Amino acid sequence: MIQKVKVGDKVIGGEKILVQSMISKKIQNVEEIIEEISEMERAGLDIIRLALPQIGDVEFFKKIVDKVSVPVVADIHFDYKIAIKAVENGASKIRINPGNIGSEDKIKMVCHACKMAKVPIRVGGNLGSLEANVEREFGRTAEAIVKSCENNISIIEKCGFSDIVVSLKASDISRTVEANRLFRKKHSYPLHIGVTETGTYDMGSVKSAIGIGSLLLDGIGETLRVSLTDSPLEEVKFARKILKALGKENYVEVISCPTCGRCNYDVAKVAREVEKQFSDVVVDKTYKIAVMGCVVNGVGEGKEADIGIACGDKKFVIFKNGLVLKNIAEENISEFFEIIKADMKKLEK
Ligand code: SF4
Repeated sequence: MIQKVKVGDKVIGGEKILVQSMISKKIQNVEEIIEEISEMERAGLDIIRLALPQIGDVEFFKKIVDKVSVPVVADIHFDYKIAIKAVENGASKIRINPGNIGSEDKIKMVCHACKMAKVPIRVGGNLGSLEANVEREFGRTAEAIVKSCENNISIIEKCGFSDIVVSLKASDISRTVEANRLFRKKHSYPLHIGVTETGTYDMGSVKSAIGIGSLLLDGIGETLRVSLTDSPLEEVKFARKILKALGKENYVEVISCPTCGRCNYDVAKVAREVEKQFSDVVVDKTYKIAVMGCVVNGVGEGKEADIGIACGDKKFVIFKNGLVLKNIAEENISEFFEIIKADMKKLEK
């Protein structure tokens, strides 16, 4: 049973897999950051994280927390005083590395502040910041990430604190996935998943999709971050795509064939038009629209679609759940869009 952790008005370990991201701007850019977070929220952001390198940053942190509606996480290294001040100024969660906070007393004070304010702590193990003794014993392995993470957890647990979210990260897919799988076998803390430092959008999104996707298919991961050298907004948009593709979120799904020599029309053009017209529609269940190149395989291949189109001899065949609904002339393709609209409207009732 995975432990539930409350972060502001959100629950990590609840029904929904929560999407997180992190602001890359300097915290002093308060107005710009507030605007950016609002835009990200519209794109599906659940929780935002901000880095606070200096004690003076808390003042800006508070201004941002006061103006945004998503829970805000304070990311703190080295200085326990910043952590305590961030908690006092509206942090919904803090992300620390107990190993670099210093003495036991300082960690105790941070835990006490968090306990009083009911603010959870995220701790983790990261291949990029393994402790020397852990690396000596386990090498640069998934086991080392888990061990480092367990050490950090036990520091916090010793302070009587267990409102914990855990992350285990590496910049490669294999060790990230393996570390999370190993950890999940032994512990019930909710997991913040993601492949870290994946690079720029092109390969970073691929690595993230494979890493996060593999874990989610195993039922591992209660919250996630797609980590890209790109804008945080792109991280959020891509995270939502992963959740949709895995069937973790409802959406209008377009199934279209790759086309071959049997195809007599521009499938890509029609598929893109379908996406343009319907991808923003909010649905209670995933609604599948198939755009297939021919009737030879199209109707059968699109059997699971709520509605679909395939091209026959100078005409289109519109089908629903694998059965032919109607034939329309090539020049009347707009009728297909009207039929989709009417079909989706029925579902709204
Ligand atoms: Fe080819 Fe028809 Fe299959 Fe599309 S649906 S790939 S056109 S056989």
